[in-house]
Amino acid sequence: MTVLVLGDQLTRRNGPLSAQPDESALLIEATDFARRHPYHPHKLTLLFSAMRHFRDTLRDAGRTVHYYEESTFERAFDDHFERRPGDELVLMAPASHGTVDRLRSMVERRGGSLTVVENTKFLCAPETFDEWADGPPYRHEQFYRFLRRQTGYLMDGDQPVGGEWNYDDQNRETPPDDWTPSDPPVFEPDETTRRIQSWVESAFHGGYDGPPYGGDWADPGPFRWPVTRRQAVQALDDFVTHRLADFGPYQDAMVEDEWAMSHSLLSTSLNIGLLGPGEVIERAISAHEDGDAPLNSVEGFVRQVLGWREFVRHVYRREMPGLATANQLDAGEDLPDFYWTGDTEMACLSDVVDGVRKRGYSHHIERLMILSNFALLYGVEPAQLNRWFHAGYVDAFHWVTTPNVVEMGSYGAGAFATKPYAASANYVDKMSDYCSACPYYKTKTTGDGACPFNTLYWDFLDRNEELLRSNHRMGLVYNHLDNKGDEELAAIRDRATDLRRRASDGKL
Ligand SMILES: Cc1cc2nc3c(=O)[nH]c(=O)nc-3n(C[C@H](O)[C@H](O)[C@H](O)COP(=O)(O)OP(=O)(O)OC[C@H]3O[C@@H](n4cnc5c(N)ncnc54)[C@H](O)[C@@H]3O)c2cc1C
Ligand code: SF4
Repeated sequence: MTVLVLGDQLTRRNGPLSAQPDESALLIEATDFARRHPYHPHKLTLLFSAMRHFRDTLRDAGRTVHYYEESTFERAFDDHFERRPGDELVLMAPASHGTVDRLRSMVERRGGSLTVVENTKFLCAPETFDEWADGPPYRHEQFYRFLRRQTGYLMDGDQPVGGEWNYDDQNRETPPDDWTPSDPPVFEPDETTRRIQSWVESAFHGGYDGPPYGGDWADPGPFRWPVTRRQAVQALDDFVTHRLADFGPYQDAMVEDEWAMSHSLLSTSLNIGLLGPGEVIERAISAHEDGDAPLNSVEGFVRQVLGWREFVRHVYRREMPGLATANQLDAGEDLPDFYWTGDTEMACLSDVVDGVRKRGYSHHIERLMILSNFALLYGVEPAQLNRWFHAGYVDAFHWVTTPNVVEMGSYGAGAFATKPYAASANYVDKMSDYCSACPYYKTKTTGDGACPFNTLYWDFLDRNEELLRSNHRMGLVYNHLDNKGDEELAAIRDRATDLRRRASDGKL
């Protein structure tokens, strides 16, 4: 028997490696897999380096590890089953759709077998979610409360600690001008990571030759992400000690040049298994109990990890494969090139896209209210936007990008979003300092220099009236649309057409 460990399952604290302490492990680096999208070089470095460090840790602990560096999974299995005919593989259930079927068929064609066991990278088991759920539509708030009760996290008997289930009203602040968040830790590449970095550069730089920029679109700065369990624990300590207290109030705020704000930067470590959700939540709760972090920050953080992360995983599991191509607004525009180049005059988009090109990261509100919001208003096909997020982000995996991008960001299916997350410059200006330095006018909707978010916002409501007007949460904005005269509406439509032309000419 051998434990098959996928590149995002790097844990031996639970799951099949912990249940089978005496069995060997099998890890496969499949380079063709890394060429399926124009991945950010930091993402490839993160995954390959973390896998090799994990292999070394297992070997140092005395375990036999079969480690294949091959072009495809098929070739690695050819080698493996030639050496170990009939091997019985055990695998932690992958979160991404279709992976088990593909692996099982490859293994069985070579005379092996595959047993799939529970995924311990999440806290809520599929049966528990399925018993709770009566959707679609699914409601996050109800699920979050259900899971708080199930786990007992931040509970005082049957009631939430502090008396409220959420403290959102305290968590929508923007920081004062003199606020400086603590610098997030940088994990200097060791020799293994440095070797991977140069290999990624030579093997994959331009290794993807699909549209629009091949593999050359990124502008990578220094690599900084944890690649070992030890580093991931340091990253968690650093967050809890220096940034958790401010996480809540500023979680929706954006400040130019403060790319991390007080976010945890733990998504890569959680998603590849270096950290577990339970330990992360428990550290944050302990900080509150020790008086080191206020309840609004800790609850806000627990809501993300216990609520949203678990929720989107299960919605994805239940709504695939349809969710990947869902497009209820029938949005068919191509993604503007500036998502790859950062070449736009719009101050907000330019700064956020530059951050993605440098680091493969931007924080949640930039993903939702700048990048997805613009694509939604512009009418970008959700699957195209999903591919861009999937390629560009260090923490992107199909199970987490798809519900976030296609549903939350693009209102593709109505599976859990109760309305589109659509906003004009008014929101961006309230939550950021971008608009004051932008050549576009945040208060103008039509005419020269009008902010594209404004024009496209009203154009979006106008174009999607048939589906959205009947949504009771949209009643107020449709009242505002009704107050616009025919002349103004015509000017909005003209300017929207002009903006689309300019975007496709690279002049927005
Ligand atoms: C359009 C869009 C695309 C996204 N793509 C990804 C992605 O590819 N990978 C990814 O892990 N997250 C994704 N998210 C969710 C969220 O933005 C990131 O998890 C978060 O920004 C990661 O940074 P952080 O670790 O500093 O998070 P923090 O803000 O510190 O939050 C703490 C943790 O909560 C979890 N979390 C918070 N929100 C979500 C959410 N909506 N879904 C799932 N987990 C959540 C993450 O594990 C995160 O590390 C996306 C959100 C949107 C709107
Ligand atoms: S004015 Fe418009 S484009 Fe410029 S920063 Fe504000 S929202 Fe972005």
